[in-house]
Amino acid sequence: MSLDVLAIAAHPDDVEQTCGGTLIRMAEAGYRTGVLDLTAGDMGTRGTPEQRIAESEAAARHLLLAWRGNLRMPDARLENNIAARMTLAVKIRELKPRVVVLPYWQARHPDHYRCSEMGFEACFLAGLKKLDEYSVPHRPSKILYASLYADVKPSFIVDISSQFERRMTALLSYASQYGETAEGGALFPNESEIRDRLGAIARFYGNLIGVKYGEPFVVKEAIRIDDVVAMPVRSI
Ligand SMILES: [Zn+2]
Repeated sequence: MSLDVLAIAAHPDDVEQTCGGTLIRMAEAGYRTGVLDLTAGDMGTRGTPEQRIAESEAAARHLLLAWRGNLRMPDARLENNIAARMTLAVKIRELKPRVVVLPYWQARHPDHYRCSEMGFEACFLAGLKKLDEYSVPHRPSKILYASLYADVKPSFIVDISSQFERRMTALLSYASQYGETAEGGALFPNESEIRDRLGAIARFYGNLIGVKYGEPFVVKEAIRIDDVVAMPVRSI
């Protein structure tokens, strides 16, 4: 298996909120995309891990993914230890992604920033020849941080105007989380609330680059531009 883009996330339904539009757009452009979820949501108020995994597989079809997997690490108590990093590094060697998308490194939920840290360290480990003798070294050439829920200025924004509806359909595949049920009702937004909320966020980022809907990312390196005359987004 050799992927062009792999998004690594803490929970099923994270990528559908933060970078799913970009994954769809890359798949539409002919790239092979994948998602690796670290946990199956076993601490979730609603639904079971089996339900979440089945829902994530349905969502994967809407996201046009070539591959999706779940490491079933412990939800809400994700630990960045050597065993977890090794598991992740070996998976990266198997999937050989050119680009890895991670959650932004600061977040309210500990699983999100731990996933970011583990993903970053695993990308480095995956490139070490002597890590293990049964897999071939591979280090992704680019790491992007999905920053939709972080209060930071994005390094760049992807226009997802044509992918937004498909991304919303993917997210609503998680019927156990966003369906109308009494259980956890005050805690969980219903479908119209989630549609409004995600629509407003995507509109905000889209507006920053002069399009309808956008998804923001941060990169740690500078971005190279070869033609300053052709740079998009008008200055104010
Ligand atoms: Zn999450």
